Formats: sequence, C-alpha cells, structure tokens
Amino acid sequence: MGATLWHNEALHIRPGPGIPCMSRPAQALIDLRAFGHNYQLAKRLAVSARAWAVIKANGYGHGAVALAQALPNADGFAVASLEEAVELRDAGITQRILLLGGYFELSELGEVARLDLDTVIHSLEQLQLLEAACVDVPLRLWLKLDTGMHRLGLDAAQLPQAVGRLQDGGHQLHLMTHFACADDPDSPTTARQLRCFKAMTAQWGWPASLANSAALIARPDTRADWVRPGIMLYGSSPFVKEHPIQTELQPVMTLSSRLVAIREIATGDAVGYGETWRAARPSRIGTVAIGYGDGYPRHTPSGTPVLINGCRVALAGRVSMDSICVDLTDLPDARVGDEAVLWGRGLDIGEIARAAGTISYELLTGVTARVPRIFKS
Ligand SMILES: *Cc1c(COP(=O)(O)O)cnc(C)c1O
Repeated sequence: MGATLWHNEALHIRPGPGIPCMSRPAQALIDLRAFGHNYQLAKRLAVSARAWAVIKANGYGHGAVALAQALPNADGFAVASLEEAVELRDAGITQRILLLGGYFELSELGEVARLDLDTVIHSLEQLQLLEAACVDVPLRLWLKLDTGMHRLGLDAAQLPQAVGRLQDGGHQLHLMTHFACADDPDSPTTARQLRCFKAMTAQWGWPASLANSAALIARPDTRADWVRPGIMLYGSSPFVKEHPIQTELQPVMTLSSRLVAIREIATGDAVGYGETWRAARPSRIGTVAIGYGDGYPRHTPSGTPVLINGCRVALAGRVSMDSICVDLTDLPDARVGDEAVLWGRGLDIGEIARAAGTISYELLTGVTARVPRIFKS
C-alpha cells in the first residue's frame, strides 16, 4: 500500500516556477557586491600595483566562477592548480590566471600554453619538466623564491642556476615570494624575508609579487608590482589580533539556517551527544538545522555565539552532523522557522574561528557541497 501511495501522482508536490526546491534551510548567501567592494579596497591600498584576486579552493569555498564573473575589471585571478584554472577558462574568464602551485606533471604544460596561463616555478624539478616539454610558445613564468618560509621556492643557490637555464627560452620572467608571519605585524620575520628577497633579486628587474592580504595591508614596502590578496577579499581580517581594517571589509559569505525545534528543559537536564552541556536553570533550547556535515566544526565549544533574529545566543552542547542546539532562554520570542546566522553579516567569522581554535580560511573552505550557495549581486 505504501508503494501505491508513493506512486500516486496527486501526492507529488512540486515547487512553483522560479521557486528553488530547498528542503533544508541551511544555506550560504554569497554577497558578490561585497566581494567587489573588498577587491576595490585592496586596489586602493596598493594603488600602483596590480592585484591577483586569489580564488583558489573554489574561491575559499564561495564558488570561484561566480566570484570571477563578478569582477570583470580584475587584473587577474590566482588559483592553486590547473584544474581550477580550467574551470575558470571554461566559464569564459579571459583575464590572466596564475597557477600558484605551478604544474605537477609534464602533460600540464601544453594546457598552460593553450589556456594562456601564468605559472609559478618553485623548484628545479618543475624547471626540468619545462625543459623536457619543449614548449614552443613563450610562457609567463613566476620564479618563486624561498626567502625563509621553507615550504616552496628556489633558494639563493638555485635561482641563478634557474635563470641561466631560462634566459634564452624567450619566456617572460617574474619573481615572487610568500611570507610566513605577515598575519602578525609585530613579527620581525616579514622584514627579514623582504631583505632576503631584495638581496636575491637585486640583479634582475623583472616584475615582482610578494604581498598576501596581511602584508598588503600592514607592510606598504612589500606591495611591489603585483599583490595577491586572498582572505581580505572575503571580508575577513588576515590578522591574528584585532585590526582596524576589519571595519572596512564586508563579509561575503553569510552562513545561515533556521530553528527547526524548540523545547523547555529542567535545571540539570543535558543537551546533545555526550551530555556535555547541562541546564543551570530552567531553559529553552532551540535546534538549528546546521552541523558539521555542513562545515560548522564539531569542536566548536558551547558558548560560541549564534545570531537568532540578529540577537546573540550561545551554542549549547556538541555540534551534531545535521544540527546544533542553542540556549534561547533569554530570547523568549524566538519561534520555529526563525533565522539563525552562524557567521557572516552581523557575526564576524573571525570570532567563530577563534572560538573553534582555527582560522576563517579553514571555516570558509570547509563549507560542504550540500550547503547551497545563493548568489546575490
Ligand atoms: C593563498 C595564497 C595567497 C593569499 O593569501 P591570503 O592570506 O588569503 O591573502 C597569496 N599567495 C599565495 C602564494 C597563496 O598561496
């Protein structure tokens, strides 16, 4: 009989035309105008430089193609891999695209040429692949130097060797490096890396790129020819400590859902897996349809703020896969169906990241595929 009911056409309910079929209220609203505002802010700070908008990892989880399409005047886009660049070219993006990690195999070099990409070369192994590939068109190459981070890049001995091998190839050469501690303006490391970069590159006048968001904001002396803002474009301050730039940045992603249940519990009653939160008073507990299956981290502690109808309430108990609970005792007007904001407009993602022991980058890139991205222009 159940099967009969299931197949009864009369029971099929479909949304009307233009109404998205969304059974669950968790969503990430992506404010493309805010993204444009933040890019213009980066450009104003580094007025004589061009700016790669860093949209690797699917635009820090926001949706790389939509972001790129929202910045028709961007100088260029930076991504981590060929696959990410292909997605942008397939979507009709015509600006320059830089492969921050360069290429991983010889077979990619044909694509780098065909798609007219800029590529990093950070090791002699990559240089060897280029030589083996016998590319017959000039490429725009970015020699990445290790100035102290010791992650990727050519060192002081390898650079002249690489330049010697490249000089007759007809390629356009550029220089870049990456800072390890720019998120802490008090660290002496950035100045040391800058001195190292200048010493390594003094004899070559090719265009240079050094600054990520943090250096671009806090260290005017690192701006050079191209800057590489990432996190600031998404409206999150790159700094570990409070910084006035936060007030000028606009959050791009607002992660939200809705209250799906509310109950009253007695003093001493526990909430959630493992009974890690107990009511110290008669309490009103709301359940929000969002969890670690959506990218809200499981280790976020009780007490972390959630906005219900714009008011801050506290997370209560462990984060589940599909839901969290919040303490609504001081918000007696909250009703099932009311909006809950996890981060974004009105609730800085940096505060949530600090509570969860991580950084905004990880929260943003961790929003899972089941959360629909709703783009607002
Ligand atoms: C990700 C990345 C950036 C952007 O860094 P933010 O801290 O997000 O501004 C810049 N340069 C390189 C090489 C990167 O990998």
